Amino acid sequence: MQLTNTKVASQQVSFLDAVRIGLGEQQGLFFPTQWPSLDIDALLELPFVERSAKVLQALIGDELSAEQIHQMVSNAFQFPAPLAQVTDDVACLELFHGPTLAFKDFGGRFMAQALIQAQKQQNVSKTTIVTATSGDTGAAVAHAFYQQAGVDVVILFPKGKISPLQEKLFTTLGHNIHTLAVEADFDQCQALVKEVFNDRDLVKQLNINSANSINISRLFAQICYYFEAVAQVPKDKRDQIVIAVPSGNFGNLTAGLIAKVLGLPIKRMIAATNLNDTVPRYWKDGQWAPNKTVATLSNAMDVSAPNNWPRVEALLAQGKICRDDLEAVMVDEEDTQVSMRQLAHLGYVSEPHAAIAYKALKRSLEDGEFGIFLGTAHPAKFKEQVENILGSPIALPPELAAVASEASLSADMSPDFVQLRQFLLTLDK
Ligand SMILES: *Cc1c(COP(=O)(O)O)cnc(C)c1O
Repeated sequence: MQLTNTKVASQQVSFLDAVRIGLGEQQGLFFPTQWPSLDIDALLELPFVERSAKVLQALIGDELSAEQIHQMVSNAFQFPAPLAQVTDDVACLELFHGPTLAFKDFGGRFMAQALIQAQKQQNVSKTTIVTATSGDTGAAVAHAFYQQAGVDVVILFPKGKISPLQEKLFTTLGHNIHTLAVEADFDQCQALVKEVFNDRDLVKQLNINSANSINISRLFAQICYYFEAVAQVPKDKRDQIVIAVPSGNFGNLTAGLIAKVLGLPIKRMIAATNLNDTVPRYWKDGQWAPNKTVATLSNAMDVSAPNNWPRVEALLAQGKICRDDLEAVMVDEEDTQVSMRQLAHLGYVSEPHAAIAYKALKRSLEDGEFGIFLGTAHPAKFKEQVENILGSPIALPPELAAVASEASLSADMSPDFVQLRQFLLTLDK
């Protein structure tokens, strides 16, 4: 499969090259210009790993063999994505049963597999992953590459702006996982990472790669669980499915739209944001006007300049989706809490990100439709908030209990590219 740079159409690369390069020239994103056609009904009959391998094979093409892709998927997807029924017409797709209890485990782990393949094919001995995280990417990427020979991981995160437990999931690992607490917000962290990629000498010297949601392998991996969601919906409701996605960088939403383009029966998608509502405003008035990022309860979505949006624009430009396929809804802080309490009344304990998607879904869902909202993180990852809002204690799952008492190994840094560059060069030994 050839992938084309969304900004520089003359830059066309293979899947593994796109995985290795990450971001294209002039900060363009790699994206397909053509889409395979799939036998959806047959695919929906298959188990998760088998089906996912087939979907990814169709997207990636013959660059990797069917056996290789199957092996990569079975290494990466070692946990389920169950659809939990909340009411008769609403269910939550729980994507938090992986090692770091968030959906980013799917993309992070598949990307690690893809990068290992790219390294092998290209005889590269060492890769440095540099990524910014608003919370969950860091943990997923750190775990996916932990103690992987030939890979150093450097993670930038906004100091004090992610939940303490979330932070512990990736700052306590050590070994090849290096974490930097930056005195900045997430957008500034992301801007620093972009500066790294603009420094061609540095990128070449350290063989630097990004693992944030712009990497095409993460996006492709995320398409698979939309198929898994639909496969769990009773057949007589499959033509009435509406899916709401709690959105920050819009990778998850883009993956859902791709699934729809590939023929998966999704009536429409809903992008649900918190107060950082650049996309809902844009969808209404056509003005792209990011505001300063504000901190919210759903901190993994505190993004005002979502970096996957050009891919949604690409799908529109390709004529593969139209305006009616997507709604964009902002849910404020008050409604986030109301939504969590409403879910708790229904017997479903959730956390702020998923609760935003539930709220947006409820505002949109019509009679006869079947709504799915994405559960992007385990509620215990946001223990303090969830307990405050719901007024009842929740237990920590074993993964979190184990790291809660360990010391953070991260170093502090100001949002300064020169400092970051120096730090990266110390890894080149
Ligand atoms: C990353 C994240 C999101 C946002 O996903 P995007 O693909 O960046 O839009 C939502 N919820 C949680 C819990 C996350 O970690």
